[in-house]
Amino acid sequence: MSDNRYLETLYPSYGQSFAMEEVLFRAPTEHQELIIFKNERFGRVMALDGVIQTTEADEFIYHEMLTHVPILAHGNAKRVLIIGGGDGGILREVLRHESVEHVTQVEIDDQVIEMCKQYLPNHSNGAFDNPRAHIVIDDGKAFVMNCTEKFDVIISDCTDPIGPGEALFESDFYRGCKNCLTEGGVFVAQNGVPFMQPDEAETTKARLKPFFADRTFYCAPVPTYIGGVMSLAWASDNAELRQLSSEVIAERFAKAGFKTRYYTPAVHTGAFALPQFLIDRLDAVE
Ligand code: SAM
Repeated sequence: MSDNRYLETLYPSYGQSFAMEEVLFRAPTEHQELIIFKNERFGRVMALDGVIQTTEADEFIYHEMLTHVPILAHGNAKRVLIIGGGDGGILREVLRHESVEHVTQVEIDDQVIEMCKQYLPNHSNGAFDNPRAHIVIDDGKAFVMNCTEKFDVIISDCTDPIGPGEALFESDFYRGCKNCLTEGGVFVAQNGVPFMQPDEAETTKARLKPFFADRTFYCAPVPTYIGGVMSLAWASDNAELRQLSSEVIAERFAKAGFKTRYYTPAVHTGAFALPQFLIDRLDAVE
């Protein structure tokens, strides 16, 4: 990090940098290096271990797509499990669904939650205090491997597979998630930018195979997840859930009764149309 610029170090030979107008918080937590700073173009920005996690300006795209797609596709989600998501954006969007009665969020680093509440308050926007939200500080893999509760939708809003996030890309984690899903449940996860991290999607598809009949990805363009569209992993035992018409999705979305800034029923159904280079790579995986 040069004196007033933050250089993302996710890729050794390529990266983005942000002018830091003000550093709001910077310190190692028990698990990772956390920084939150102000940038004129993206607002408040949070990074963990050198990787941009979320910014005020573009967080809505990712948080809307990782929540409303599985919840509206499921159609009757009452219990949702969030793994990671310490900034609170996913929790905020899940709770907009009045039909969701209970959300458990398992986040490994309570300092991320506390600092984001303080310096990124618009992300959670009070969601952590919602009576329907139950926050657990734990490793997500350990939680799902020992959990006896069942959930209709599981959302893994994890970091990249480095440091504590690595556990959330392992087979045991996917096995645990399947065990925690109800019949007809849906699992989705952040799965990197395929143009920059091509093997991430392939590895995930292969590792999901023993546990889910239907495994694929859908896309969302998040400007500060650099290198192209981000792939979001999708797994369930019923392929029809991701093949619903935009009319059906539109009906459910209208009933949900809230406004979004990126998500629309047409974007929902279109997001499952993958670029050819990703299809080719995924077709090579069993
Ligand atoms: N949207 C971001 C992305 O796509 O990279 C991820 C945002 S969120 C900040 C990632 C969260 O995962 C962080 O709060 C981090 O502490 C949490 N996390 C990392 N490893 C974890 C683990 N093994 N169990 C639970 N939470 C974990």
